[in-house]
Amino acid sequence: MYDTILVPTDGSDTAEVAVDHAIDLAEKYGATIHALYVIDVDATSYSLGTEQVDRIRQGHLDEMPEVKESAERATGQVADAAAEHGLTVEEHVRAGQPARAIRKFAEENDIDLVVMGSHGRSGLSRALLGSVAEHVLRETQVPVLVVDEHAER
Ligand code: ATP
Ligand code: MN
Repeated sequence: MYDTILVPTDGSDTAEVAVDHAIDLAEKYGATIHALYVIDVDATSYSLGTEQVDRIRQGHLDEMPEVKESAERATGQVADAAAEHGLTVEEHVRAGQPARAIRKFAEENDIDLVVMGSHGRSGLSRALLGSVAEHVLRETQVPVLVVDEHAER
């Protein structure tokens, strides 16, 4: 049932808790884990400007080492945690609006389950769900496991 699991991560503590749940499921189901970090183009266009963001969209990530590092740190965290359990992870970086990019990735890569945090980096825990989590839940046809920051790990 669950052969390919998508773990979208923004590198937050909550996403890290979700990773533990994804790893446990992947071990039980013999599933492949795909870790996905989305460079939020709306957020980065404030700091980098639209020209730079276009370069990111075109895949010229090497020109922006800081952006590249945050992306690789986030997906690398998933890969490292999985490696401790003898699992391999495919790491992916995309640029776009996080929720849309996650949904698109799930549709295009035959994902059977999405495992993600209830909240992320901006951590406004007043809201029941972060906006990315909410959008993915609403819009995707794929089952989604939403893991709370305080969930057991
Ligand atoms: P908001 O972004 O609405 O202010 P938030 O940051 O607390 O609130 P979300 O962004 O919805 O909450 O984060 C929920 C989960 O969505 C994260 O734990 C992570 O799994 C995933 N996620 C969020 N942003 C990204 C991203 N840029 N790339 C990949 N996954 C992401
Ligand atoms: Mn967020």
